Amino acid sequence: MTAMEWTNATWREGVPAGTGRALTLRQGDRVRVIDVEGGQVGDVFAFATDDLAEYLSASHTRTATSRLFPRVGESFVTNQRRPILGFVEDTSPGIHDMLIAACDVERYRGLGVEGHPSCADNLCKALEVLGLSVSEVPQPVNIFMNIPVTDDGALSWLPAASRPGDAVVFQALMDCVLVVSACPMDVNAINGHRPTQLAIETASGPS
Ligand SMILES: [Zn+2]
Repeated sequence: MTAMEWTNATWREGVPAGTGRALTLRQGDRVRVIDVEGGQVGDVFAFATDDLAEYLSASHTRTATSRLFPRVGESFVTNQRRPILGFVEDTSPGIHDMLIAACDVERYRGLGVEGHPSCADNLCKALEVLGLSVSEVPQPVNIFMNIPVTDDGALSWLPAASRPGDAVVFQALMDCVLVVSACPMDVNAINGHRPTQLAIETASGPS
């Protein structure tokens, strides 16, 4: 797929290592999430703007696509089975995950680290900036996360295969709030033991 054209309305924001950002998208808007340095996992969440209880659901998306992760051209759907994000472009090797829960304080405690930053906290803090909150942390879309599934069902925690500048592009299929967390995991290998920044670019859709 060719690189997408971006309008003059393109806007870029950094997501420093280990932190999260929330942004509101109108239907038709596009967002590019860039792995600036390579090898970095991003946790992506999306909520319907008019009702945060409707959110991008990994399990409903797997049902809709009959795949572990959508292909470019397919869509992510909500827990009400409505399309919320289109998967428009992917310049990475195409290895992503939609099975693993967001890291949280308990996950790090289980790994022997107290008070570690987490994607779950990043989600809450990023929404708070917009004056929003949610009661549960949905299963995220873990872009660039490299969790191969073997024939006998076992999972491995491998470093992200994304290269510097690799990116995925989503298009909002409804008005939604998008949250991106640059995963702070440094206890296992998924970020190569060195979490780094992501960047977000947004472009207005056709009005
Ligand atoms: Zn994380």
